[in-house]
Amino acid sequence: MLNIGCHLSVSKGFEFMGKQTLELGGNTFQFFTRNPRGGKAKDIDKDDTDALIILMKKNNFSQVLAHAPYTLNPCSKDERTREFAYEAMTDDLRRMEYLPNNLYNFHPGSHVGQGVEKGIELIAEHLNKVLYKEMTTTVLLETMAGKGSEVGSRFEELRAIIDRVELNKKLGVCLDTCHVFDGGYDIKDNLDGVLGEFDNIIGLDRLKAVHLNDSKNPLGSHKDRHEKIGEGNIGLDAFERIVTHPVIKNLPCFLETPNELDGYAKEIALLKSF
Ligand code: FE
Ligand code: FE
Ligand code: ZN
Repeated sequence: MLNIGCHLSVSKGFEFMGKQTLELGGNTFQFFTRNPRGGKAKDIDKDDTDALIILMKKNNFSQVLAHAPYTLNPCSKDERTREFAYEAMTDDLRRMEYLPNNLYNFHPGSHVGQGVEKGIELIAEHLNKVLYKEMTTTVLLETMAGKGSEVGSRFEELRAIIDRVELNKKLGVCLDTCHVFDGGYDIKDNLDGVLGEFDNIIGLDRLKAVHLNDSKNPLGSHKDRHEKIGEGNIGLDAFERIVTHPVIKNLPCFLETPNELDGYAKEIALLKSF
């Protein structure tokens, strides 16, 4: 069975997101660890996270995915921005241990004119500071669309980051269908070719999660505008091939499409029907 869910608001707590997911027909979900504009995260209520853990076991949930704030940029030119990335992610990874053995996803960052090489170096330096031996969370680098100076739109860049990280056993990759398509990887007409390239460069054992989003823009547009499943340039046939592909069908998949909850429920049902 497909492991699928959608992005939910954490504002009413963790068990609430688990219950919401069941109502939507899913068995996993994604949430932001904190306000995207930064600031202190709400304290974790252990009774609430324990209740979610029980709900997840009872209902055969797959791993859930925490998403770091978009503003986190470990390869910024500005030292204070890098400092925020360090503090926020250190705190997030500590908090993730209330939900052991789950996934934490972040955008590698934007090098803002310093060059991809420098970006890769700073991101690896950041990971070498925040990862620690005892953590049970797997940290995922998200594949990016290559908008502006984003690092991580080429599989080679993700590989170069992973290679420079000492505790890279803790690292994986989250493949965002809109982002890779906008980045120039043709998952619409050459899914096997793209996954083969992923395997050659990064290794499919690193692929731990998938973001399912259609794209408002054509292949290679480097735009990053998500569309509802089947209503964009990737199209429904491609999503059927994606969610039934042997490499992907057992991974947790997360919708980040422009939808309210009822729209998510429809997309979950549609994708599960394949
Ligand atoms: Fe993301
Ligand atoms: Fe994404
Ligand atoms: Zn996106």
